[in-house]
Amino acid sequence: MEIQKQKISNGVKEIISEFESPMHKIAKEQFEEAAEILNLDPNLRDRLKKPARALVVSVPIKMDNGRVEVFQGYRVQHDSVLGPTKGGIRYHPDVNLGEVAALAMWMTWKCALVGLPYGGAKGGIRVDPNKLSINELERLTRRFTAEIFPLIGPTQDIPAPDVGTNDQIMAWMMDTYSQQIGYSVPGVVTGKPISIGGTYGRPEATGQGLVYVILETLKNMKISPKNSTAVIQGFGNVGENVARLLSEQGVKIIAVSDIQGGIYNKRGLNISEVIKYKEKNKILRGFPNAQNITNDELLELSATILCPAALSGVITEKNADKIKAKVLVEGANGPTTPGADKILNKKNIFIIPDILANSGGVIVSYFEWVQDIESYFWDIEEINKKLFKIITSAFYRVWDFSKKKKVSMRQAALMSGINKIAEAHKLRGLYP
Ligand code: NAD
Repeated sequence: MEIQKQKISNGVKEIISEFESPMHKIAKEQFEEAAEILNLDPNLRDRLKKPARALVVSVPIKMDNGRVEVFQGYRVQHDSVLGPTKGGIRYHPDVNLGEVAALAMWMTWKCALVGLPYGGAKGGIRVDPNKLSINELERLTRRFTAEIFPLIGPTQDIPAPDVGTNDQIMAWMMDTYSQQIGYSVPGVVTGKPISIGGTYGRPEATGQGLVYVILETLKNMKISPKNSTAVIQGFGNVGENVARLLSEQGVKIIAVSDIQGGIYNKRGLNISEVIKYKEKNKILRGFPNAQNITNDELLELSATILCPAALSGVITEKNADKIKAKVLVEGANGPTTPGADKILNKKNIFIIPDILANSGGVIVSYFEWVQDIESYFWDIEEINKKLFKIITSAFYRVWDFSKKKKVSMRQAALMSGINKIAEAHKLRGLYP
């Protein structure tokens, strides 16, 4: 009995210590700074610093070799004052409770900032999806969905794809949820294939949104896209679409990378050829007419635009001083540490912060959810028109706020989001 109690207590300690991840510290630090400038009520500060709900689940699945393996999964809901919570599902070997909690908090500020009727959530499984067969991946996804079933639903909490997950995984999640309910519930997840209630424009939505805010920034800086260069880290859903859509606007993409490293050509890369090369070879290294470079070297290249679109914490106090781009547009969530942020601001690098820059994904996810509820679907022109309107008006709101309050673009974005959440909490009060 004592041994059992000790085991449980050690397990709980392990989980609690996971909360103290570097990413959660960054999210809390950013929040504290913005809350301080906003002079936020201390009672509310304590409530918003922690997630409203965090579920840790064990996900046992039968591997193809007949053995059972148990994976650790998470779903965290940060705040639901504005509506159901919303956020992606990440499959990656580094996923932990603190990371998921940080990403959930950023989702709250992001949805509030761009005016969506959602709170923030995030989920994930600590797993390398590349090491699983397609059947193992399906069993993992279905069992995970069953484990987090009590928390999710179209009026409760709506997952979407993130790093390591895609439309097929969303289809399995939607099917598993629907099987338990007894009828099809397309609105339980977004980022699904079109044929089962997905929307036009979702696969490229985050990249498209990033490109809209980049073009507005260039316009304000009086730099023509044709005279601009861009460097992009990560060549997955976000990075590949940014590269493709920016090159269609005439921007010269001089370097791109994936987990294995980057490729660089100062005269510009032919992005449609790079996409074909990646499809065939699975990696970017070795692409003809380009020099292989490391992910660290890529970040320090001279370019008009730098877009980190892979993982968090890649721009730190160690390399911030070496960043030469004029504009840093954050495709990834949390790519810049607070220490690095201060250095970049001193260097007058214009930063379009993650919660604004990459909000195109959740904006079009919102469109998908609305269409699923109404069972009435829109065409791509309508999607892009609405996306452009929402993201560019948020961009100018943040820009004006930053000038008026003399704060950075990041602080302005966070303060706008936090302010909206604070106002809603004040109006709704504290139950009971
Ligand atoms: P993805 O899994 O499709 O692609 C990730 C890319 O990053 C891949 O090219 C991978 O090789 C690369 N990568 C992984 N680890 C790396 C490392 N250590 N160094 C360099 N490259 C590495 O993921 P995604 O959906 O494109 O998401 C990328 C980032 O954008 C994440 O931070 C995610 O949270 C954020 N984001 C995604 C969406 C979306 O709609 N998919 C929306 C908002 C924000």
